[in-house]
Amino acid sequence: MDQTQPLDLVVRGGTVVTASSHHRADVGVRGDRIVQIGGEMAADREIDAAGKLLLPGGIDMHVHLTSLKTGDDEFRWADDFATGTRAAAAGGITTVGNITFPHPQERLLDAIARTLAEVEPLAVVDYALHPVVLDPSPEGRAELQELVARGHTSIKIFMILGNFDGRARDYLDTMRAAAQLGMLSLIHCEDACVIGHLTERLLTAGRVGKEWFPASRPVFSEEIAVTRAVGFAEAAAAPIYVVHLSSQAALEACHRARARGVPVYVETRPLYLYLTEERFDDPDGAKYVGNPPLRKPSDVEALWNGLWDGDIQTFCTDHAPWKLDEKLDPALNVETFRPGVADLETLLPMLFSEGVNKQRISIHRFVEVTSTNAARLFGLFPRKGTIAVGSDADIAIWDPSVVRTVDASAMETNADYSPYDGWEVTGWPIATIARGELVYENGQVRGQPGRGRLVHRGPSQML
Ligand SMILES: [Zn+2]
Repeated sequence: MDQTQPLDLVVRGGTVVTASSHHRADVGVRGDRIVQIGGEMAADREIDAAGKLLLPGGIDMHVHLTSLKTGDDEFRWADDFATGTRAAAAGGITTVGNITFPHPQERLLDAIARTLAEVEPLAVVDYALHPVVLDPSPEGRAELQELVARGHTSIKIFMILGNFDGRARDYLDTMRAAAQLGMLSLIHCEDACVIGHLTERLLTAGRVGKEWFPASRPVFSEEIAVTRAVGFAEAAAAPIYVVHLSSQAALEACHRARARGVPVYVETRPLYLYLTEERFDDPDGAKYVGNPPLRKPSDVEALWNGLWDGDIQTFCTDHAPWKLDEKLDPALNVETFRPGVADLETLLPMLFSEGVNKQRISIHRFVEVTSTNAARLFGLFPRKGTIAVGSDADIAIWDPSVVRTVDASAMETNADYSPYDGWEVTGWPIATIARGELVYENGQVRGQPGRGRLVHRGPSQML
């Protein structure tokens, strides 16, 4: 460290928390990096963090903030990259990973370039892009090397989109090619065949309402897809990252795979920790729809245990924001309910409140599943995912005692509701520092659109 250069910022008196330790220390920042932890330091600009926790900025590797195009229709979420990353900053998240869909017939590299042009002027926090493989052709595989060279070391595969079942061999080849380049394959694991069959039967029987939604996508439709994905991982020697896992049975399939050395990583999301399928009986139950559906209390219990014991490696939002009237559109049915909810601002506070405060997970597991593990798996560690000398100064200054009631109308997202409206949550960020810049403070987002940058990622690191 060059001691002769003055610091730009000192965060004083907080408790630095990482995945493995916590201790009181001042933190010195120069430029966009942490350059000193502990010891004498001073800067013109200081932040008083006495009584607060300094947590590594959240890394939410699963968000939907860019448009989708199918045929002539272009679909836009309630949030774009500007409002979505403002919500991230307000929620203590300093890096997001966006699921990036190519337009029909568009090459992956072109989809990335188009998306970058769209999001660069908007992003308030740093971001990664996961290109979605809709055409697992040899031509598509030939693009992977260039994607890696440009720092994009992950792909997303949907087992329920397009013609996955018809082209499964090609997807397997793509996963192998990706793995050989150090890429991680994110997989949405639900079985298209079973879901299609069950949905058709429900529609035929006139069972079209929200209360039938769980029956259209039962646990076994997730379990068999996860089991198949595990087999693909084994066959292709390809690490896989199962997104938004929702059930005990699917988690057990991953546990068995990991126990025999298959590189399987598991993400879950807030919906499955806080809510159960009875919500679909509510008059406005469609607002809770996500794919897969809400499950049973025993599944909730299993997921908490998985977060506690390490079977689940990451906790991400799958932020997919809608307006409430879009979710509750009476024209929708069991086949067409709109999946997804907004969660970027509530992800960390609610896990802190429900997890750490209620002693379901330790503060160190909290840091692991919200930041450190994602940084490793997505090739960002140790630049991100921890508080250490040399790392990016991405820090959530956390007040563990502040109590707020969730109220989407007062939050940054353009979605006009939260599934958790009215929940009392203890523990919120009072400030968020992203690469040395105060992007959120005292309830105000201060980071300007366009300051967030694409993160150039290295190879996925195994956990
Ligand atoms: Zn998603």
